[in-house]
Amino acid sequence: MNVPFVDLETQYDRLRPEIDDAIQCVIDDTAFVRGPYVSDFEEEYADAYGVDHCIGVANGTDAIYIVLRMLGIGPGDEVITVANSWISTSETIGQTGAKPVFVDIEPDYYNIAVDQIAEKITEDTKAIIPVHLFGQAAEIDAVMEIASAHDLYVIEDTAQAHFAEYDGQHVGTFGIAGTFSFYPGKNLGAYGDAGAIVTNHDELARRCRMFSDHGASEKHDHEIEGINSRLDGIQAAVLSAKLPHILEWNRRRNENARQYTELLRDVPGITPPPVRPNASHVFHLYVIRVDEGRDDLQDFLENRGISTSIHYPKALPFLKAYEHRNHKPSEFPVAHDYQDRILSLPMYPEMNEEMIKYVASSIRKWTEQFYTKERR
Ligand SMILES: *Cc1c(COP(=O)(O)O)cnc(C)c1O
Repeated sequence: MNVPFVDLETQYDRLRPEIDDAIQCVIDDTAFVRGPYVSDFEEEYADAYGVDHCIGVANGTDAIYIVLRMLGIGPGDEVITVANSWISTSETIGQTGAKPVFVDIEPDYYNIAVDQIAEKITEDTKAIIPVHLFGQAAEIDAVMEIASAHDLYVIEDTAQAHFAEYDGQHVGTFGIAGTFSFYPGKNLGAYGDAGAIVTNHDELARRCRMFSDHGASEKHDHEIEGINSRLDGIQAAVLSAKLPHILEWNRRRNENARQYTELLRDVPGITPPPVRPNASHVFHLYVIRVDEGRDDLQDFLENRGISTSIHYPKALPFLKAYEHRNHKPSEFPVAHDYQDRILSLPMYPEMNEEMIKYVASSIRKWTEQFYTKERR
């Protein structure tokens, strides 16, 4: 059996009339950049998310950069973030001229180790960017407490956690702003690059919108130098067509995760991902931890037609891009240890029970072989 890592084709097959119609409308109306399809989606997303403002931008990376810039963060400043994430989270800090300061991850939930944030705060610290990684909420109330005690902004990187909740509240709505990616493979994905910023702060919303459109609030009225990071009409229309399905898709992902966890719970050397008790997980990724032999397991699964992936093979402080910082494994022991143990299994709403059983039984088969070989 073949189990791909993601399957955007099946999703398209099921939504074909809506998606095709959405795209055709944008072309018929030649509403390619910004325009009514973009403002409709922004309104729908803000409503669904329960926030005052949604600003569509070109991608999820720009979303972070724009918020940082419009909060006045730049050279000489420090921004605290987490050691395991996609590089967008830290590169955008660098793009402003500020310095990313990394914090290790918590051993169970893979998110920022909140108890280690305070020791990284200096007089130059301006903000914290927690990431709700893999679709699971970071311990955001504790992050907010530390931030308010030290007068820091919190920007939530919500690229992997659309509609996940912490204490019944959507992640991305705790800090001054939440940023989203609608990259095709994300839980809510466009048909190209797309992103958004959500916030309840009127003035920040106005400034982000302006900055993302060449610094102009009205055409030709450029208040500041900005950038070109606009959401395009086709992406917005595709997102509007998909938005009504997101909660059902997240529910399906949870059901898949429940089945995986049930089947993997007692497999020796394998740790399925636990869900934080007061939070909901939207399983953008289903990441297991393998005590020993992770790469061997990955090859074994590949040979059985199962595609897996690693998020991420190198934690941020150990990337070549940060070599000049001379970070040592002992500074981020958990992130460093886990980069050789984590494995992301196939996960998407369209998976069926048979596929999940096949993946889980293949893992069980591998452990049986691997541990017998080891003991001999
Ligand atoms: C995908 C992702 C981003 C960036 O989104 P793009 O739309 O690809 O620019 C940022 N942060 C995290 C954690 C992501 O997974």
